[in-house]
Amino acid sequence: MVISRFAPSPTGFLHLGHAYSALTAYATTQEGGRFLLRLEDIDGGRCRESFVQAIFEDLHWLGLRWPKPVRRQSEQMTDYAHALDILTDKGVLYPCFCTRSEMAAERARLGQVQRGPDGPLYPGSCRQLTPRQKEAFLHQQKPFALRLDMEQAVARVGRLSWFDRLQGEVVATPERFGDVVLARKETPTSYHLSVTVDDHLQEINQVVRGQDLFQATHIHRLLQALLGLNTPQYHHHRLLLDTSGQKLAKSNRSLSIRSLRQQGVTPEEVRQQINLSR
Ligand code: GLU
Repeated sequence: MVISRFAPSPTGFLHLGHAYSALTAYATTQEGGRFLLRLEDIDGGRCRESFVQAIFEDLHWLGLRWPKPVRRQSEQMTDYAHALDILTDKGVLYPCFCTRSEMAAERARLGQVQRGPDGPLYPGSCRQLTPRQKEAFLHQQKPFALRLDMEQAVARVGRLSWFDRLQGEVVATPERFGDVVLARKETPTSYHLSVTVDDHLQEINQVVRGQDLFQATHIHRLLQALLGLNTPQYHHHRLLLDTSGQKLAKSNRSLSIRSLRQQGVTPEEVRQQINLSR
């Protein structure tokens, strides 16, 4: 049985790109499968309850139905803490006390900056802290993030791959990202950790999401291996572009489902416009 999900962040109104993603995921579950909705609301500063309600209304209007209660990431910190404990026990996590400016200064000092898919790599300063330095920072209550020691992590798991519906077998190369943050300073989790843990706990076996998240799957596959979690199949679909060729963004209100509804567009017309078969 196919179990898929749509996992928006309630930081704005859904647009046509979200409709494409949600309807594609929904379509995969229509022969006796299960479609779930999940709210990725760990970013307390940007998420709004009004957007949560708008997500429910807009998806319902599009004809989607899902079981309740809806999983909200902001309520699942115990699950993420448990995953972090496992990674700590394996010796692949370390606290990082660096501020942005300290990281910039360290990169400048090192001269050459290695870049990964998400930008410049973390220069590694806190990986080398002595236990005494670490203790001192903790004692001063200096805020810290938790980073994955990528070299250690990759060494533990060996060669990994996943199956992508459009690209077939993809070999995971998470090392290109360097020491990613798995728990942020301001919230004790991250997109990468929460999504991987949730997809496992919700028994998702088909992850349908945009091509813009393809690179993130390299990290998710590694976390699955480290945490002993299931690996779903993936479908990273094409992105809908606006008339100027840019990816649709929540900030562009004109293509929000909400405004299309208000203009009198029907759900059927939305389906035609996004052309699911392509
Ligand atoms: N929450 C993410 C977003 O709104 C999607 C995450 C995912 O599908 O893995 O872009």
